[in-house]
Amino acid sequence: MSNRKAITERQKIDCLLARANAHGRLACAICDRLIFPGQVIEWDHIHAVCADGPHNYENLRPLHRACHTRKSALDIALNAKTKRIANGGRKRKGPKMKSRPFQKTHRKLPTRADRERVLAMRERRE
Ligand SMILES: [Zn+2]
Repeated sequence: MSNRKAITERQKIDCLLARANAHGRLACAICDRLIFPGQVIEWDHIHAVCADGPHNYENLRPLHRACHTRKSALDIALNAKTKRIANGGRKRKGPKMKSRPFQKTHRKLPTRADRERVLAMRERRE
């Protein structure tokens, strides 16, 4: 269970009143299409709470569910990258994994004599 505070009805109403256009309509901030009555609204923190964004109506916006899902996936990836960079850009803990060395010897290429020997063996078999 997360210890994040729930968004109150008051905050939702304040946010809707602040964001409705001149016709009293709401647009999704991601895709710019209208949000219609009956559609599921998801509440997005513009400045993510995990990145110290405030928990007030001015930092909230209504989004379509699909738009919010896409945006959240990006936020999570960005947050992980930020943490990685803050930790010195290393993903792994522990010693650096040693790479496999290059092969010291290489397979000898067949000589003309080798090829003739193989051909002679094939002829004997036939
Ligand atoms: Zn949308």
